[in-house]
Amino acid sequence: MTKQVQMMVVTPHPDDAEFGVAGTVARWTREGKDVIYVVCTNGDKGSSDNNVKPDELVRIREQEQLAAAKLLGVREVIFLHYPDQTLEDTPEFRKEIVRLIRTYRPETVVTADPYRRYIWHRDHRITGQVTLDAIFPYARDFLSYPDLLEQGLQPHKVKEVLLWGSEDPNHRSNITDTFDIKVAALRCHQSQVGNRISPELEQRLRDRHKMMAEGEDYELAEAFHRVEIQW
Ligand SMILES: [Zn+2]
Repeated sequence: MTKQVQMMVVTPHPDDAEFGVAGTVARWTREGKDVIYVVCTNGDKGSSDNNVKPDELVRIREQEQLAAAKLLGVREVIFLHYPDQTLEDTPEFRKEIVRLIRTYRPETVVTADPYRRYIWHRDHRITGQVTLDAIFPYARDFLSYPDLLEQGLQPHKVKEVLLWGSEDPNHRSNITDTFDIKVAALRCHQSQVGNRISPELEQRLRDRHKMMAEGEDYELAEAFHRVEIQW
């Protein structure tokens, strides 16, 4: 019933995880760690093409996400299928995340930083907030969901949270050896990046990750706000 993993990535849309954490995911899976993705929305508004039908876009984006995850060595991708731009901080959504945390029992949970100020996609803000709330106190407390307990889903204590897109990064992860696979995973999201993963964009990405590694003794990093949870 439970299926322990080391890392659970909770991503608002198909492609956010690749921008935020793919280099780190690739490093972890290379080290033999189990990583799963939870994709909250189906991304059905994520197109600037007037001719594309939302249903078709959903199908394409799922395939793109599966291809990217496969490339990165992600063990499983779970789609929650909320329509794009409709996420709300509801008891149902929170409980779904709790159920997954209790099922997969990750040591580390990675998601979008909900505390980025001003212009930030509402789905990102809500995914981050609901995930943090799910970790504490709901996944931890015995009495939160008696029905989950009856199904054998015991409380679980996540050890570490990594938040991407943070204005207050305090943790860097070395992606020097996995940057190329991150770019390849981003390329899987053709409907989103199209031809944007050109040599120029790749260079811009490289520059960005170089900046994130400033002061370290390696070249490229992904940066996060890290919360270590002392239970
Ligand atoms: Zn997004």
